[in-house]
Amino acid sequence: MDYLMLVDKFNAVPENYEKTIKLIEIQGKRLESQACRQCDIMLKEAKESGVVIRIISAYRTKNYQQMLWEQSICEKIKEGFSLEQAENEVSKTLAKAGHSEHNAGLAIDFGREESDDVEDDFYKSSQAKWLCKNADRFGFILRYPRLKEHITGISYEPWHYRYVGTEAAQFIKKSGLCLEEFLHFYSENYI
Ligand SMILES: [Zn+2]
Repeated sequence: MDYLMLVDKFNAVPENYEKTIKLIEIQGKRLESQACRQCDIMLKEAKESGVVIRIISAYRTKNYQQMLWEQSICEKIKEGFSLEQAENEVSKTLAKAGHSEHNAGLAIDFGREESDDVEDDFYKSSQAKWLCKNADRFGFILRYPRLKEHITGISYEPWHYRYVGTEAAQFIKKSGLCLEEFLHFYSENYI
């Protein structure tokens, strides 16, 4: 299992990938087994320090991703966008089927205790602050940081965390690099 696998607009989850991973359930959602165990330990530690973090979204099948994509495109077209404009707009926050880290079972969208959807102001919450400070110790990185949009191609998402393993996560956080930059400069040391 390659926990540093790049999944983005240009790199899809490999064919038959689902057959190679084991998914485990957490808060009624599914995640790749090691990522799930680490997430479980992390959320327990957060809870012990008084911060209850909710999982909004974790593993998604490619079919579900496709449905989300089509739904979002339809909404934009109804607002008056052309198909091309709609695709450009939607792709800033949503990936096509097979191109989402959620399809790899390695990404989680977190929320406040009472939330049932992701929130733009999540960064203000105690949950976001706790994750920002501690998630790297459990192998998770804030995958789409502010000021890295020109590299990741995705808008700032304070809720979206990606499992990369503890060693890489701690290095990425300390260096201030995003995953693309880290892979470009350092991946040979970690693979
Ligand atoms: Zn996400």
